Amino acid sequence: MGHELAVEVVSASEGAFLKPGDICTVNPYLSCGRCIACRQGKTNCCVSLSVLGVHQDGGMTGLLAIPFQKLISAEGLTVDACATVEFLAIGAHAVRRAAVDHRDHVLVVGAGPIGLGVALFARQSGARVVVLDRDEERAKTARSISGAEFIVANGNAREAVKQSSDGEGFEVVFDATGNRHAMEESFAYVAHGGRYVLVGVVKDQISFSDPDFHRKELTLFASRNATKEDFDVVIASIRAGKIPIERLITHRTSLRNAVSNLPLWATQKTGLIKAIIEID
Ligand SMILES: [Zn+2]
Repeated sequence: MGHELAVEVVSASEGAFLKPGDICTVNPYLSCGRCIACRQGKTNCCVSLSVLGVHQDGGMTGLLAIPFQKLISAEGLTVDACATVEFLAIGAHAVRRAAVDHRDHVLVVGAGPIGLGVALFARQSGARVVVLDRDEERAKTARSISGAEFIVANGNAREAVKQSSDGEGFEVVFDATGNRHAMEESFAYVAHGGRYVLVGVVKDQISFSDPDFHRKELTLFASRNATKEDFDVVIASIRAGKIPIERLITHRTSLRNAVSNLPLWATQKTGLIKAIIEID
């Protein structure tokens, strides 16, 4: 929490590109600017990356000092929309990693917020997109929000994926579960010559069959965080009216009430996509 931020500028130094009162979104990935990744523009995987709200205190406060390079002007966006930019940028980044285009058949495994973001941007690339989830309600919600087709993974998911792809598998598969078993299983869903993108992360080892990996000549990607380019893609997409923000924000609370609301929402997840905490 505290890394998906909409902020109002309270004070800015003389000559800054922002002025008090401006509404911004925040790139919470504080990168060093000097390491090998930063030198290549891959600030999302900086060697000494520090993420606001993860590695250091983030936005669960009334006042926050942020390096001006990490503030992204979001003129024309509502405060609510600003707060969705970061999680959507994760999806936009993953889709950019895989260079998805209109010829691709894409499978997104996991219909949580990250999977939803991936599905939305894969659809915007013109690809055919199928979302797979164990929960029928979540899968249906993903369909109505992103326009993707869906598969409910109850029982024989491998067979359902096969049928959905004419027995060939999908050219691009995204894992958005962060579940070791699902991440390993999804290797089977990728077509020969295809790409597999791990967006979800698990604190464990994952393994796969090397003969299968080689036979298919798979390309395997990790996708971590997002860069300024991805934030810009998301903001442009919201400005163009392509993201149904009001469908993504399902819950709302204040900092005071968050203490009692959050434990409740953590166990009663039905209908929950994103919750906003308003801080005065
Ligand atoms: Zn760096």
